[in-house]
Amino acid sequence: MTSTLIVGAGSAGCVLAARLSADPARSVRVFEAGPAYPTRGELPHELLDPGHLPVGPESGVVWRYRGNLVRGKLIGGSGAINGSYFIRPPATDFAAWSAVAGPAWSFESVLPVFCDLEDDADFGWAPGHGVGGPIPIERTRDFTEFSAEFAQRCAAAGFTEIPDLNLARSGADHTNGFGRVPLTVSHGLRSGPAITHLYPAMERPNLSVAGDTMVTRLLLRGTRVIGVEWSRGRERGRTYADQTVLCAGAVESAALLIRSGIGPEPLLRSLGVPIVAPAPVGAWCTDHPEVGVEFPDDEPDEPAVPLEYVLASDDLELRPYTQRFTPGHRRIGVALMHPESAGELTLVSADPAVPARVDQRYLRGERDRARLRDGVALTADLLGRRIGPVDDPWLRANLGTSQHLSGTCRMGPAHDERAVVDEHGRVHGIEALAVADLSIVPVPLRRGPQATTVMLAAAIADHMVV
Ligand SMILES: Cc1cc2nc3c(=O)[nH]c(=O)nc-3n(C[C@H](O)[C@H](O)[C@H](O)COP(=O)(O)OP(=O)(O)OC[C@H]3O[C@@H](n4cnc5c(N)ncnc54)[C@H](O)[C@@H]3O)c2cc1C
Repeated sequence: MTSTLIVGAGSAGCVLAARLSADPARSVRVFEAGPAYPTRGELPHELLDPGHLPVGPESGVVWRYRGNLVRGKLIGGSGAINGSYFIRPPATDFAAWSAVAGPAWSFESVLPVFCDLEDDADFGWAPGHGVGGPIPIERTRDFTEFSAEFAQRCAAAGFTEIPDLNLARSGADHTNGFGRVPLTVSHGLRSGPAITHLYPAMERPNLSVAGDTMVTRLLLRGTRVIGVEWSRGRERGRTYADQTVLCAGAVESAALLIRSGIGPEPLLRSLGVPIVAPAPVGAWCTDHPEVGVEFPDDEPDEPAVPLEYVLASDDLELRPYTQRFTPGHRRIGVALMHPESAGELTLVSADPAVPARVDQRYLRGERDRARLRDGVALTADLLGRRIGPVDDPWLRANLGTSQHLSGTCRMGPAHDERAVVDEHGRVHGIEALAVADLSIVPVPLRRGPQATTVMLAAAIADHMVV
């Protein structure tokens, strides 16, 4: 029996664990650093409420990094605490991805994987969609006044309504316009990856999930990974496996590789970590910078998912949040979905308790600043309000992250000096080790990454089982 150890029960880890453990000839063990409530029924109710993002200062289920970057730290990972917005990137992103990593990542290759995953209540019957898959998708029908007004203003400004934002996009027609947000919500409850994938597989005798278990380092014999070291409270241990797959997310998968001696040589030397294999881990990463445009509004709050509508205008996405970030104010987020600037992830210490450092370098490119200014001007036009002056200090003061970090362990062929993993997530130069999460996406995605993360995990799992 092959034993596979999965590090992290997040968006990708849940999908991978469910798919791999469907094979009774494989034993699958999952280590999750946060709580892994053993049954769906034991999940705290607030985690099932899609209108609640449990990321505030009081939250005990997130990793925190500088720049307000957070990640989910519980069964389901970031997919258990996110905005439930489930959207596929356009075909152009997969053209760029497959140019780097081969035809397995072309739009034509990944579309069937997206279709098999979904059970789309509104468009499942349409070409390029699916019904009966594990992930329920629906769109809000009963909007808050704020969302409805936003949609009206978009229409009045001449934007087209796009009924299905997940339509297989090959033409420019579908790129610009406003539309209802596709949500991983069913009967008013959040349906994250633990709910759609891991819990339904939990009864299998060949699958085990250990919560509150943080993997601190990979165990290597030469360049072969033979298992991991972990900590659980005061307990420390080692677990061995034939194959280890990192699904710890874009920050922690990269951090774990670096702590284990797989990373940029100067960084490993500065940390005092023995070098196992030089690799450009963390040398590139990307996210969607977002500036918040706030304005006074004291209309009563209505319970709702964070986003019901969005407007896409070329590389900008306008997000009319139903929730408040500042009392007495509404916010429209202006996100740049294809930034030029790239960031870097490093460690300042080899101690697993010290958080990794992500330097997003958001406003470094003049074009990125100009596009964000364009987005603020568009928001001002839609709202019929004056905003600004929108100079660089204004952008800096109102800047945030969309929480969409990706690309710290890029995919690409061995001769690509920026690549950490191959087209199936296997780490170059290391045996029995793969990475299967958002960290391996080699290009900026023009849409939120949740749908891509689960598609990616499903595609990698399918390759591992054949
Ligand atoms: C607040 C928030 C809102 C978001 N909203 C949206 C949205 O609406 N739409 C969208 O498309 N995207 C959204 N995203 C992004 C999206 O959720 C993530 O990009 C996606 O879930 C990443 O999946 P992943 O599997 O790569 O990592 P994660 O889902 O973060 O999973 C990583 C898992 O590994 C565990 N782990 C980490 N290190 C270790 C270790 N050393 N040992 C053991 N376990 C470990 C973590 O605890 C976690 O459970 C949001 C993200 C956040 C944080």
